[in-house]
Amino acid sequence: MQIVHSDDFVMDTAVEQRVFGENAAAACAAVARLLRRLEDRMSFFKPGSDVRALNEAAGLGIPIRVGAETVFVLLAAKELAEKTCGAFDVTAAPLSECWRGAARRGDGIPPTEEELANAVSLIGNDVLSLFPENGAAQLTKKGAAVDLGGIAKGYAADRAIELYKTMGVEAALINLGGNVKTIGKKPDGQPWVVGLQDPDKERGVFLGSLQVAAASVATSGGYERFSVIGTEKYHHIIDPANGSPAESGLLSATVIAGSSMQADGLSTAAFVLGLEQAAGLLECYPDVEAILIDEERRVWITPGARESWNPAPGYESLSVSVLENNK
Ligand code: AMP
Ligand code: MG
Repeated sequence: MQIVHSDDFVMDTAVEQRVFGENAAAACAAVARLLRRLEDRMSFFKPGSDVRALNEAAGLGIPIRVGAETVFVLLAAKELAEKTCGAFDVTAAPLSECWRGAARRGDGIPPTEEELANAVSLIGNDVLSLFPENGAAQLTKKGAAVDLGGIAKGYAADRAIELYKTMGVEAALINLGGNVKTIGKKPDGQPWVVGLQDPDKERGVFLGSLQVAAASVATSGGYERFSVIGTEKYHHIIDPANGSPAESGLLSATVIAGSSMQADGLSTAAFVLGLEQAAGLLECYPDVEAILIDEERRVWITPGARESWNPAPGYESLSVSVLENNK
Protein backbone atom coordinates (compact mmCIF):
# COMPACT_ATOMS: atom_id res chain seq x y z
CA MET A 1 0.00 0.00 0.00
CA GLN A 2 1.25 3.48 -0.87
CA ILE A 3 1.30 6.21 1.78
CA VAL A 4 1.56 9.71 0.35
CA HIS A 5 1.86 12.95 2.30
CA SER A 6 1.94 16.16 0.28
CA ASP A 7 2.03 19.86 1.19
CA ASP A 8 1.06 22.45 -1.39
CA PHE A 9 -0.27 26.00 -1.70
CA VAL A 10 -3.40 26.36 -3.85
CA MET A 11 -6.54 28.52 -3.68
CA ASP A 12 -4.56 31.05 -1.68
CA THR A 13 -4.10 28.61 1.17
CA ALA A 14 -1.95 25.77 2.52
CA VAL A 15 -3.14 22.36 1.32
CA GLU A 16 -2.21 19.09 2.98
CA GLN A 17 -3.05 15.68 1.53
CA ARG A 18 -2.53 12.36 3.34
CA VAL A 19 -3.52 9.53 1.06
CA PHE A 20 -3.40 5.76 1.62
CA GLY A 21 -4.02 2.99 -0.92
CA GLU A 22 -2.73 1.29 -4.04
CA ASN A 23 -3.21 4.34 -6.19
CA ALA A 24 -2.34 6.99 -3.61
CA ALA A 25 0.42 8.82 -5.50
CA ALA A 26 -1.62 9.13 -8.69
CA ALA A 27 -4.70 10.21 -6.74
CA CYS A 28 -2.72 12.85 -4.86
CA ALA A 29 -1.37 14.26 -8.13
CA ALA A 30 -4.84 14.20 -9.70
CA VAL A 31 -6.29 16.12 -6.74
CA ALA A 32 -3.50 18.72 -7.00
CA ARG A 33 -4.52 19.26 -10.65
CA LEU A 34 -8.20 19.43 -9.71
CA LEU A 35 -7.50 22.10 -7.09
CA ARG A 36 -5.56 24.23 -9.57
CA ARG A 37 -8.43 23.95 -12.05
CA LEU A 38 -10.97 24.99 -9.42
CA GLU A 39 -8.75 27.90 -8.41
CA ASP A 40 -8.58 29.02 -12.03
CA ARG A 41 -12.38 29.14 -12.07
CA MET A 42 -13.23 30.51 -8.65
CA SER A 43 -10.38 32.81 -7.65
CA PHE A 44 -11.33 36.39 -6.78
CA PHE A 45 -7.93 37.65 -7.90
CA LYS A 46 -6.83 35.50 -10.85
CA PRO A 47 -7.36 37.12 -14.25
CA GLY A 48 -9.62 35.00 -16.40
CA SER A 49 -11.44 33.23 -13.57
CA ASP A 50 -15.24 32.92 -13.72
CA VAL A 51 -15.46 35.11 -10.64
CA ARG A 52 -13.27 37.83 -12.17
CA ALA A 53 -15.32 37.79 -15.37
CA LEU A 54 -18.55 38.02 -13.41
CA ASN A 55 -17.25 40.88 -11.26
CA GLU A 56 -15.85 42.78 -14.23
CA ALA A 57 -19.25 42.64 -15.93
CA ALA A 58 -21.14 43.92 -12.87
CA GLY A 59 -23.81 46.41 -13.85
CA LEU A 60 -23.31 45.97 -17.59
CA GLY A 61 -26.68 44.24 -17.93
CA ILE A 62 -25.37 41.04 -19.48
CA PRO A 63 -25.24 37.54 -17.96
CA ILE A 64 -21.78 35.96 -18.05
CA ARG A 65 -21.17 32.31 -18.93
CA VAL A 66 -19.48 30.51 -16.04
CA GLY A 67 -18.52 26.88 -15.49
CA ALA A 68 -21.02 24.37 -14.08
CA GLU A 69 -18.94 24.08 -10.89
CA THR A 70 -19.08 27.83 -10.34
CA VAL A 71 -22.85 27.88 -10.87
CA PHE A 72 -23.19 25.05 -8.35
CA VAL A 73 -21.21 26.94 -5.69
CA LEU A 74 -23.02 30.22 -6.40
CA LEU A 75 -26.39 28.47 -6.01
CA ALA A 76 -25.32 26.98 -2.68
CA ALA A 77 -24.01 30.38 -1.57
CA LYS A 78 -27.30 32.08 -2.36
CA GLU A 79 -29.22 29.45 -0.44
CA LEU A 80 -26.93 29.85 2.54
CA ALA A 81 -27.34 33.62 2.44
CA GLU A 82 -31.08 33.10 2.77
CA LYS A 83 -30.79 30.58 5.60
CA THR A 84 -28.36 32.78 7.55
CA CYS A 85 -30.33 36.00 6.96
CA GLY A 86 -27.35 37.38 5.07
CA ALA A 87 -24.65 36.61 7.66
CA PHE A 88 -23.03 34.46 4.97
CA ASP A 89 -22.99 36.51 1.81
CA VAL A 90 -20.57 36.05 -1.08
CA THR A 91 -21.59 39.47 -2.40
CA ALA A 92 -19.90 41.05 0.65
CA ALA A 93 -16.77 41.39 -1.54
CA PRO A 94 -17.02 45.21 -1.97
CA LEU A 95 -16.80 45.47 1.83
CA SER A 96 -13.71 43.24 1.96
CA GLU A 97 -12.24 45.46 -0.75
CA CYS A 98 -12.92 48.59 1.35
CA TRP A 99 -10.86 47.15 4.21
CA ARG A 100 -8.09 45.85 1.95
CA GLY A 101 -8.09 49.21 0.11
CA ALA A 102 -7.66 51.14 3.37
CA ALA A 103 -4.74 48.87 4.29
CA ARG A 104 -3.15 49.47 0.85
CA ARG A 105 -3.54 53.27 1.14
CA GLY A 106 -1.22 53.05 4.08
CA ASP A 107 -2.39 56.26 5.77
CA GLY A 108 -3.57 54.37 8.83
CA ILE A 109 -7.19 55.45 8.32
CA PRO A 110 -9.92 52.78 8.22
CA PRO A 111 -12.67 53.00 5.58
CA THR A 112 -15.00 55.96 6.15
CA GLU A 113 -18.67 55.54 7.09
CA GLU A 114 -19.54 56.75 3.61
CA GLU A 115 -17.32 54.19 1.87
CA LEU A 116 -18.80 51.39 3.96
CA ALA A 117 -22.38 52.60 3.42
CA ASN A 118 -21.74 52.72 -0.32
CA ALA A 119 -20.37 49.15 -0.29
CA VAL A 120 -23.27 47.92 1.87
CA SER A 121 -25.66 49.27 -0.80
CA LEU A 122 -24.01 46.94 -3.35
CA ILE A 123 -24.46 43.68 -1.48
CA GLY A 124 -27.20 41.11 -0.85
CA ASN A 125 -28.80 38.20 -2.65
CA ASP A 126 -30.73 40.56 -4.92
CA VAL A 127 -27.63 41.78 -6.75
CA LEU A 128 -26.69 38.28 -7.91
CA SER A 129 -28.87 36.62 -10.56
CA LEU A 130 -28.22 33.02 -11.55
CA PHE A 131 -29.33 31.26 -14.71
CA PRO A 132 -28.33 27.64 -14.04
CA GLU A 133 -30.03 26.32 -17.16
CA ASN A 134 -27.77 28.56 -19.26
CA GLY A 135 -24.69 28.21 -17.07
CA ALA A 136 -24.68 31.94 -16.51
CA ALA A 137 -24.63 34.51 -13.73
CA GLN A 138 -25.00 38.27 -13.49
CA LEU A 139 -24.32 41.03 -11.00
CA THR A 140 -26.99 43.64 -11.46
CA LYS A 141 -25.26 46.66 -9.87
CA LYS A 142 -22.10 48.42 -10.99
CA GLY A 143 -19.46 47.94 -8.33
CA ALA A 144 -21.02 44.73 -6.99
CA ALA A 145 -18.74 41.70 -6.71
CA VAL A 146 -18.68 38.15 -5.40
CA ASP A 147 -15.89 36.42 -3.52
CA LEU A 148 -16.18 32.67 -2.97
CA GLY A 149 -13.40 32.63 -0.35
CA GLY A 150 -15.84 31.54 2.37
CA ILE A 151 -17.14 28.45 0.56
CA ALA A 152 -14.98 27.40 -2.42
CA LYS A 153 -12.33 25.61 -0.39
CA GLY A 154 -15.02 23.46 1.19
CA TYR A 155 -16.41 22.66 -2.24
CA ALA A 156 -12.91 21.76 -3.41
CA ALA A 157 -12.45 19.39 -0.46
CA ASP A 158 -15.70 17.61 -1.39
CA ARG A 159 -14.51 17.24 -4.97
CA ALA A 160 -11.10 15.99 -3.85
CA ILE A 161 -12.66 13.25 -1.73
CA GLU A 162 -14.91 12.21 -4.65
CA LEU A 163 -11.84 11.92 -6.84
CA TYR A 164 -9.96 9.84 -4.25
CA LYS A 165 -12.92 7.46 -4.16
CA THR A 166 -13.12 7.05 -7.91
CA MET A 167 -9.38 6.36 -7.98
CA GLY A 168 -9.67 3.56 -5.43
CA VAL A 169 -8.15 5.33 -2.42
CA GLU A 170 -9.06 3.57 0.83
CA ALA A 171 -8.33 6.31 3.32
CA ALA A 172 -7.39 9.96 3.03
CA LEU A 173 -7.41 13.31 4.73
CA ILE A 174 -7.30 16.62 2.90
CA ASN A 175 -6.89 19.95 4.66
CA LEU A 176 -7.48 23.08 2.62
CA GLY A 177 -6.69 25.96 4.93
CA GLY A 178 -8.85 24.78 7.81
CA ASN A 179 -11.34 22.78 5.75
CA VAL A 180 -10.58 19.17 6.62
CA LYS A 181 -12.31 16.22 4.99
CA THR A 182 -11.62 12.54 5.50
CA ILE A 183 -12.55 9.10 4.18
CA GLY A 184 -11.88 5.70 5.69
CA LYS A 185 -9.73 5.11 8.73
CA LYS A 186 -6.00 5.54 9.21
CA PRO A 187 -4.02 2.41 8.26
CA ASP A 188 -3.62 1.57 11.97
CA GLY A 189 -7.43 1.31 12.16
CA GLN A 190 -7.76 4.43 14.30
CA PRO A 191 -10.17 7.24 13.39
CA TRP A 192 -8.80 10.49 12.02
CA VAL A 193 -8.00 13.18 14.54
CA VAL A 194 -8.55 16.82 13.57
CA GLY A 195 -6.81 19.43 15.74
CA LEU A 196 -8.58 22.65 16.69
CA GLN A 197 -6.31 25.67 16.46
CA ASP A 198 -5.80 27.73 19.63
CA PRO A 199 -7.02 31.12 18.30
CA ASP A 200 -4.49 32.98 20.45
CA LYS A 201 -1.41 30.95 19.53
CA GLU A 202 0.72 30.47 16.45
CA ARG A 203 -0.54 28.13 13.73
CA GLY A 204 -0.35 24.47 14.65
CA VAL A 205 -0.93 24.92 18.39
CA PHE A 206 -4.12 23.01 19.11
CA LEU A 207 -6.36 23.42 22.12
CA GLY A 208 -8.19 20.22 21.47
CA SER A 209 -9.03 17.65 18.87
CA LEU A 210 -11.95 15.86 17.32
CA GLN A 211 -12.03 12.20 16.41
CA VAL A 212 -13.89 11.78 13.17
CA ALA A 213 -14.68 8.95 10.80
CA ALA A 214 -15.70 10.15 7.35
CA ALA A 215 -16.60 13.78 7.91
CA SER A 216 -15.94 17.39 7.01
CA VAL A 217 -14.65 19.78 9.63
CA ALA A 218 -14.33 23.50 8.81
CA THR A 219 -13.04 26.23 11.07
CA SER A 220 -13.42 29.98 10.63
CA GLY A 221 -11.48 32.30 12.86
CA GLY A 222 -10.56 35.95 13.02
CA TYR A 223 -6.92 34.96 13.55
CA GLU A 224 -6.64 33.42 10.05
CA ARG A 225 -6.08 36.48 7.84
CA PHE A 226 -6.16 40.19 8.38
CA SER A 227 -5.41 43.66 7.03
CA VAL A 228 -3.22 46.02 9.01
CA ILE A 229 -4.43 49.63 9.09
CA GLY A 230 -2.23 51.91 11.16
CA THR A 231 -1.46 49.93 14.28
CA GLU A 232 -4.70 47.91 14.20
CA LYS A 233 -5.30 44.46 12.76
CA TYR A 234 -8.66 43.91 11.06
CA HIS A 235 -9.60 40.33 10.33
CA HIS A 236 -11.11 39.05 7.09
CA ILE A 237 -14.62 37.90 7.99
CA ILE A 238 -17.09 40.68 7.39
CA ASP A 239 -20.40 41.18 9.13
CA PRO A 240 -22.56 42.24 6.17
CA ALA A 241 -25.03 43.85 8.59
CA ASN A 242 -22.61 46.65 9.45
CA GLY A 243 -19.80 46.31 6.91
CA SER A 244 -17.02 45.74 9.44
CA PRO A 245 -15.01 42.71 10.50
CA ALA A 246 -17.41 40.60 12.59
CA GLU A 247 -17.24 41.14 16.33
CA SER A 248 -19.68 38.54 17.52
CA GLY A 249 -17.86 37.48 20.67
CA LEU A 250 -16.42 34.35 19.04
CA LEU A 251 -12.76 33.64 18.45
CA SER A 252 -13.50 30.71 16.17
CA ALA A 253 -16.34 28.58 14.85
CA THR A 254 -15.90 24.97 13.79
CA VAL A 255 -18.61 23.06 11.96
CA ILE A 256 -18.77 19.30 11.35
CA ALA A 257 -21.00 18.16 8.48
CA GLY A 258 -21.25 15.60 5.72
CA SER A 259 -20.54 18.16 3.04
CA SER A 260 -17.40 20.25 3.32
CA MET A 261 -18.98 23.05 1.30
CA GLN A 262 -21.80 23.22 3.83
CA ALA A 263 -19.37 23.08 6.76
CA ASP A 264 -17.28 25.87 5.18
CA GLY A 265 -20.24 28.18 4.61
CA LEU A 266 -21.82 27.48 7.98
CA SER A 267 -18.59 28.01 9.93
CA THR A 268 -18.16 31.43 8.35
CA ALA A 269 -21.81 32.23 9.11
CA ALA A 270 -21.53 30.99 12.71
CA PHE A 271 -18.47 33.17 13.26
CA VAL A 272 -20.41 36.21 12.04
CA LEU A 273 -23.55 35.39 14.02
CA GLY A 274 -22.05 34.69 17.44
CA LEU A 275 -22.94 32.10 20.03
CA GLU A 276 -26.68 32.52 20.45
CA GLN A 277 -27.66 33.12 16.86
CA ALA A 278 -25.31 30.42 15.62
CA ALA A 279 -26.95 27.95 18.01
CA GLY A 280 -30.32 28.97 16.57
CA LEU A 281 -29.07 28.50 13.01
CA LEU A 282 -27.63 25.06 13.79
CA GLU A 283 -31.03 23.89 15.02
CA CYS A 284 -32.13 23.98 11.36
CA TYR A 285 -29.39 21.49 10.47
CA PRO A 286 -30.02 18.20 12.33
CA ASP A 287 -26.92 16.47 10.94
CA VAL A 288 -24.52 19.30 11.64
CA GLU A 289 -22.42 19.70 14.80
CA ALA A 290 -20.31 22.63 15.97
CA ILE A 291 -17.66 23.79 18.38
CA LEU A 292 -17.60 27.49 19.15
CA ILE A 293 -14.89 29.26 21.15
CA ASP A 294 -15.81 32.55 22.75
CA GLU A 295 -13.71 35.52 23.80
CA GLU A 296 -13.34 34.12 27.31
CA ARG A 297 -11.87 31.02 25.66
CA ARG A 298 -14.87 28.95 26.73
CA VAL A 299 -15.64 26.01 24.45
CA TRP A 300 -19.25 25.43 23.41
CA ILE A 301 -20.09 22.08 21.82
CA THR A 302 -23.29 20.74 20.29
CA PRO A 303 -24.44 17.54 22.06
CA GLY A 304 -23.60 15.29 19.09
CA ALA A 305 -19.94 16.34 19.04
CA ARG A 306 -19.32 16.12 22.80
CA GLU A 307 -18.05 12.54 22.67
CA SER A 308 -15.55 13.14 19.89
CA TRP A 309 -13.90 16.15 21.61
CA ASN A 310 -10.65 15.82 23.58
CA PRO A 311 -8.72 18.71 25.11
CA ALA A 312 -5.04 18.91 24.18
CA PRO A 313 -2.46 18.32 26.91
CA GLY A 314 -2.27 21.49 29.00
CA TYR A 315 -5.80 22.54 28.04
CA GLU A 316 -7.72 20.22 30.39
CA SER A 317 -8.91 23.15 32.51
CA LEU A 318 -10.73 24.91 29.61
CA SER A 319 -14.39 25.42 30.34
CA VAL A 320 -16.42 23.15 28.04
CA SER A 321 -20.21 23.53 27.87
CA VAL A 322 -22.80 21.74 25.80
CA LEU A 323 -24.87 24.07 23.63
CA GLU A 324 -28.30 23.53 25.14
CA ASN A 325 -31.56 23.45 23.19
CA ASN A 326 -29.64 22.39 20.17
CA LYS A 327 -31.92 20.11 18.12
P1 AMP B 1 -13.71 31.43 5.94
O1 AMP B 1 -12.25 31.45 6.18
O2 AMP B 1 -14.23 30.20 5.29
O3 AMP B 1 -14.52 31.82 7.13
O4 AMP B 1 -14.01 32.54 4.84
C1 AMP B 1 -13.56 33.85 4.95
C2 AMP B 1 -13.46 34.44 3.56
O5 AMP B 1 -14.77 34.53 3.00
C3 AMP B 1 -12.91 35.84 3.56
O6 AMP B 1 -11.51 35.83 3.37
C4 AMP B 1 -13.64 36.47 2.38
O7 AMP B 1 -13.03 36.05 1.17
C5 AMP B 1 -15.00 35.81 2.44
N1 AMP B 1 -15.97 36.44 3.36
C6 AMP B 1 -15.75 37.42 4.29
N2 AMP B 1 -16.88 37.71 4.96
C7 AMP B 1 -17.85 36.90 4.44
C8 AMP B 1 -19.24 36.72 4.71
N3 AMP B 1 -19.87 37.40 5.66
N4 AMP B 1 -19.90 35.79 3.97
C9 AMP B 1 -19.28 35.07 3.01
N5 AMP B 1 -17.98 35.20 2.71
C10 AMP B 1 -17.26 36.08 3.41
MG1 MG C 1 -16.04 29.29 5.31
